[in-house]
Amino acid sequence: MAELIESLINNAVSRNPGEPEFHQAVEEVVRSLEPVLERRPEYRKPKIVERMIEPDRIVQFRVSWLDDQGDVQINKGFRVEMNGAIGPYKGGLRFHPSVNLGILKFLAFEQVFKNSLTTLPMGGGKGGSDFDPKGKSDNEVMRFCQSFMTELARHIGPNTDVPAGDIGVGGREIGYLFGQYRRLRNEFTGVLTGKGLNWGGSLIRSEATGYGSVYMAANMLATRNETFEGKTCLVSGSGNVAQFTVEKLQQLGGKVVTLSDSSGFIYDPAGIDREKLEFVMDLKNIRRGRIKEYCDKFSGSEYTAVEQGRDHDPLWTIDGDCAFPSATQNEINEKDAQNLLDNKVYVVSEGANMPTTPEGMKLFEDAGILYAPGKAANAGGVAVSGLEMAQNSMRYSWTREEVDDRLQKIMKSIHDACLEAADTYGTKGNYVNGANIAGFLKVANAMMDHGVV
Ligand code: NDP
Repeated sequence: MAELIESLINNAVSRNPGEPEFHQAVEEVVRSLEPVLERRPEYRKPKIVERMIEPDRIVQFRVSWLDDQGDVQINKGFRVEMNGAIGPYKGGLRFHPSVNLGILKFLAFEQVFKNSLTTLPMGGGKGGSDFDPKGKSDNEVMRFCQSFMTELARHIGPNTDVPAGDIGVGGREIGYLFGQYRRLRNEFTGVLTGKGLNWGGSLIRSEATGYGSVYMAANMLATRNETFEGKTCLVSGSGNVAQFTVEKLQQLGGKVVTLSDSSGFIYDPAGIDREKLEFVMDLKNIRRGRIKEYCDKFSGSEYTAVEQGRDHDPLWTIDGDCAFPSATQNEINEKDAQNLLDNKVYVVSEGANMPTTPEGMKLFEDAGILYAPGKAANAGGVAVSGLEMAQNSMRYSWTREEVDDRLQKIMKSIHDACLEAADTYGTKGNYVNGANIAGFLKVANAMMDHGVV
């Protein structure tokens, strides 16, 4: 069996050269699946794992647009449709200069397992562009989104592929993308999620990823009969996921003392309260400023800028009980993980996708802390996207309470499914293995039913 696992990993690496994040995501999942392939040999001959590693389809295209000076700009556009065995492809669009095919393949691969865990019928996909919305005017963002959608529109649809937001794609971008899709197709349909509330969006969608990550942590704490009351929490990022992680933690009695962006982080020992969070939401969502401004506004807080060439992130050296990495992939390396453990952090719930390196993950797993990987902890976002699709199909809207109630039930069911799968396959309490195995089984069984396609 060890030989099969190594050959699956080696093949994935040699067939997808130069895509380290994709290799990392595949290796993590494949290693978790060893006991499944051992006990369930029926998955081996039809090459279920090999087929899951190979995307159903990848679309890559040129996005040309005019900037405010009238100069032509060219970006790359992508959509990775990874696996559609259990439903239409579903996953966000990321606009960030770091975007490349390997990063989108890793995100799409993760999405397959995450969507499966939500209990809703959604396949996995991801897309985006190396376009950087930072520093662009609203008109430039609009022209870019229109050009991007002009090509993407022919590949997506409410029963085919339903994109959503991710880094750099929030309500503004979804609005421009939806407007162009509707113009091109002459139909009003649930082709994107994260829509505005007055044109088909779901209540709680904006909040869902951050709230869900906190619900996941609350479920983990409950296994030790604990709550957030009096706990100090470290949050990274200051975008959509981070903001609503802070909001839910405030509501449940936690004290959040950090936030960050790609330039640096703030530490506020007094805690980020409702008023301070409102300032951050205005700063990041409306004024589109830098997190450093928090410290100009609130005395007693400190700002630390990112140092070039650093070997660890000083945010993770702050004292706390719980950590919510909510910025980007690989933001917690081995040294960061060790710093967190040294400071007695014993709850880690990943709002971001794959924020911990494999070496960091190993430290968390060996330490036996309450550690929920992104594909379980941040599944609340796509879960409420799934609920938005259901509401669009019914042409009906649920109340805030109804959606939040469903979100809480889904996060509890993800939590329990992870624990149950981990226990069944011999690694009790390991949420990483549990998420990978539970997510895999549903997709694998559907693929078996569909034959060799
Ligand atoms: P946003 O664009 O709203 O915010 C991203 C935040 O992370 C910003 O503060 C940004 O800082 C920071 N950041 C981004 N890239 C880097 C980097 N390379 N180094 C340091 N900081 C960085 O994105 P979201 O909040 O939506 O997404 C955050 C994470 O959560 C991502 O991993 C995403 O894939 C994941 N996620 C999001 C979901 C959603 O529903 N939105 C669903 C599931 C997962 P700056 O402004 O300086 O770039």
